[in-house]
Amino acid sequence: TKIKTGWNLENTYATLPKLFFSTLKPTAVPSPELIILNNSLAQSLGLNIESLENKEGIEILAGNTIPENSIPLAQAYAGHQFGHFTMLGDGRALLLGEQITPSNKKFDIQLKGSGKTPYSRGGDGLATLGPMLREYIISEAMYGLGIPTTRSLAVVRTGQTRDNNLPCAILSRVAASHLRIGTFQYAANWGTDEELKILADYTIKRHFPQIEDNDNPYLSLLQEVIKKQALLIAKWQLVGFIHGVMNTDNMTISGETIDYGPCAFMNIYNPKTVFSSIDRRGRYAYKNQPPIGEWNLARFSETLLPLLDEEQEKAVKLAKDTVSSFAKLYSHNWLKGMRSKLGIFNEEIEDESLITDLLNLMEEHNSDYTNTFLALTFDNFEDEELYNNKEFNQWYKRWQQRLERQQESKEYSHQLMKKNNPALIPRNHRVEEALDAAVHKGDYSIMKQLLNVLSNPYAHSPEQVEYSNPPEPSDIPYQTFCG
Ligand code: AMP
Ligand code: MG
Ligand code: MG
Repeated sequence: TKIKTGWNLENTYATLPKLFFSTLKPTAVPSPELIILNNSLAQSLGLNIESLENKEGIEILAGNTIPENSIPLAQAYAGHQFGHFTMLGDGRALLLGEQITPSNKKFDIQLKGSGKTPYSRGGDGLATLGPMLREYIISEAMYGLGIPTTRSLAVVRTGQTRDNNLPCAILSRVAASHLRIGTFQYAANWGTDEELKILADYTIKRHFPQIEDNDNPYLSLLQEVIKKQALLIAKWQLVGFIHGVMNTDNMTISGETIDYGPCAFMNIYNPKTVFSSIDRRGRYAYKNQPPIGEWNLARFSETLLPLLDEEQEKAVKLAKDTVSSFAKLYSHNWLKGMRSKLGIFNEEIEDESLITDLLNLMEEHNSDYTNTFLALTFDNFEDEELYNNKEFNQWYKRWQQRLERQQESKEYSHQLMKKNNPALIPRNHRVEEALDAAVHKGDYSIMKQLLNVLSNPYAHSPEQVEYSNPPEPSDIPYQTFCG
């Protein structure tokens, strides 16, 4: 008997006005080979692992076969790229549909690297294995860290090559949806007010059904997206994640992290850290992520103006006032997270200076961001420069006194810190090592081991210890590229 595949797709996106997408089939590829499959994610989506791993299953993940009920489509969107507005769209991705899970949740299934689309512009519509595996590793690491993110179901090699013989690959990406700020910018610029309204109503129904009956649901939509992003970006800052390309087309309405291109985690604490080779002016540097988030949300609010109020002036005021709430929401989330990283349960006015004083010391002494918090968690200061420093020792006393001023025991604080300070992050040199073995030697074992320890970074298990080591000091700064 034939095994059930578990595919259970809907296509609500295809019911939107035609302006928003183009339907087309993925480009056929010569010889699909499954490189990695996310078993636990497949299971939670209701997909049958065995049937994904067999030939027919792999043909689907490679885009050679369309699963039942799928209407593959490329989504149209626009965006501000490094501040410049332009028309975009899925240039190398296709949405297969929305998978309805056994617990009745809905997730977009998208093939990334599946060939040219009407939005490809000059591009070839393809992706290479290294960057697709990199997205797989980092997105799953983010999931392990408890950060809202799109996820990675599988990577298949296609048998094609590009860029000097690099193997091509397709990533199947799973997302709450692929609605972006850029989708609204597209609607506002190239659609009618009616089409914009249809998009907004669709978004509310899909992501925020609780606001549907509010007096001004579009104002509520703006508020909800601001809340989601204020939480997301605070979580990024707390683990030292640098997205690298926070263009408005790479910011979701659902509040999930999307588009793992030039992103990377910070080792040494420095607010100016930039990894992306194309971000020459540091627009998307670590410290700029919150204000850029607000800037992007301001662009989002502008798209909603015709829906916010009939009177333009009133709409503008509403939009501005609402966007200005971002900074406070963000700071609240960040402060809360930082308190937890330091084992603090209650609130005192001076907590903020306690935190910033620590960060300033870390910056001054080139301390590793993740490992400083780990050292504080386990009270284990090896021979780091910071811990022999007089100012740090004073800070440490202040912190201990602060912990004594709360009711919770030291043991409780320690537990809180363990839950908020990861044992490891996907260190850039570890990720590169895994990718190098995968791409150049066909050895996927290093990557799988890495994924395994990254899956629960708060376990603080013995096998995670060696993965917490920062890279050897180097004169060559780590650089990332838009793969
Ligand atoms: P990103 O910088 O990853 O957000 O990509 C910006 C835009 O370029 C998106 O619309 C992508 O779909 C498109 N794009 C990226 N790579 C390619 C490619 N190889 N072929 C066609 N379009 C691409
Ligand atoms: Mg993108
Ligand atoms: Mg990208």
